[in-house]
Amino acid sequence: MRRSVRDLTFSRFTGYVGLPPPGRWFVAPTPPNLRTQLSQVQTADRAAEFHDDIIYPDSIPFVLVHLACFAAVWTGVTLQAVLLGLALYVVRMFGVTAGFHRYFSHRSYRTSRVGQFLLALLCQTSAQRGLIWWAAMHRHHHKHSDTELDVHSPRHHGFLYAHVGWIFARRNDRPDYDGVADLTQYPELRWLDRHPYLVAAALAAGCFALAGWPGLVVAFFWSTVLLYHGTFTINSLAHVHGRQRYLTGDDSRNNWWLALITLGEGWHNNHHAYQSAARQGFRWWEIDITYYGLKVLSGLRVIHDLRAPPEELVRNELRLGRKVVETVARDLAASFPIERMVAQVRGAWEHTPTLEELRALARTKQAQLQAHLAAMNLPSLPSLEEMRRRAQQMFAHAPSVSLEEIAQRARELVLEAVSVRLFEDLPAPA
Ligand SMILES: [Zn+2]
Ligand SMILES: [Zn+2]
Repeated sequence: MRRSVRDLTFSRFTGYVGLPPPGRWFVAPTPPNLRTQLSQVQTADRAAEFHDDIIYPDSIPFVLVHLACFAAVWTGVTLQAVLLGLALYVVRMFGVTAGFHRYFSHRSYRTSRVGQFLLALLCQTSAQRGLIWWAAMHRHHHKHSDTELDVHSPRHHGFLYAHVGWIFARRNDRPDYDGVADLTQYPELRWLDRHPYLVAAALAAGCFALAGWPGLVVAFFWSTVLLYHGTFTINSLAHVHGRQRYLTGDDSRNNWWLALITLGEGWHNNHHAYQSAARQGFRWWEIDITYYGLKVLSGLRVIHDLRAPPEELVRNELRLGRKVVETVARDLAASFPIERMVAQVRGAWEHTPTLEELRALARTKQAQLQAHLAAMNLPSLPSLEEMRRRAQQMFAHAPSVSLEEIAQRARELVLEAVSVRLFEDLPAPA
């Protein structure tokens, strides 16, 4: 796994570099038996959180659709069914990206209530559960991208889990509906969400009526499975393969061939940089078929108010948000060898009054100690200049206006980690 502390709380940061969390360094050591019990409880909690992949009722249709594809052995494959399947893939992929993703999850354009309902019908032909469930899961992904809380992060849960395993995790059956109040206010959307496979079943019946058994198996089931995995590549591959143009504090990538098979969703790093834009291909050569479709619908006045990314952001000159600065500063800080620096500082101060002075200071206030360390300009600790240089190497694609902020925050984090670690074995004050 890549070395990283991004998106983690400071306690996780210090845990990563082998340090106790702040505020814990004067606390008397936990007796071993209690410590063992605590770690057992934590292990059990984590196991329940990440290994609850027991199939629950709502995930059964997903399995059955895959199994149904094998029926082609008996039905045969006709040209008519293959062409119908291809058309269904394209139309429904448009439903997934223009509907589930860009409209319901990100509200990147507007339409009438009837238009909204028709979009909801179109996206639910994909058999990817209800639109409210889909949007809630997806908003959660953006809120916690590539942290341990992310529903589907290849970095934390492995590639297969990010691609498909998370579907079977019982904790994902009922997502956080508080974050989708803008959708749950509509009774017709709530009704559709409660009957997630109704529209898809009607489409399956239509395929059977039009092209017989091959129509059902090849046109409907095969294209539905392709649509599943085409959509899921964005959760898995688009966080692993491709290029990062924008510093987003997560692993999202731009990938041209994923953009082709998903009608534009492969420009995923662009999307993470500015989620509420109706377009995801920011440059003219970044093919984004969904966006072209949305432009046509906008020309026909079916939809309106397509949101565009700010020019400054597209040029990569927009100052990064605080959350991203904090995340990448943690990455930068973690690239320094904290343990070695602690050993060097301790070695240099052994048997000198400095260590005793600082110990006294450490007993009173950590913030003062940190400021003191910063002012001392110790050769073992990275200077601000060194931080700037490394930040430039590590985040070459960061807006220059944010690099200084990242370097300063990373230096604070390193000093914090070193000052915590230097005196962690001090006994608790009387
Ligand atoms: Zn993503
Ligand atoms: Zn999104």
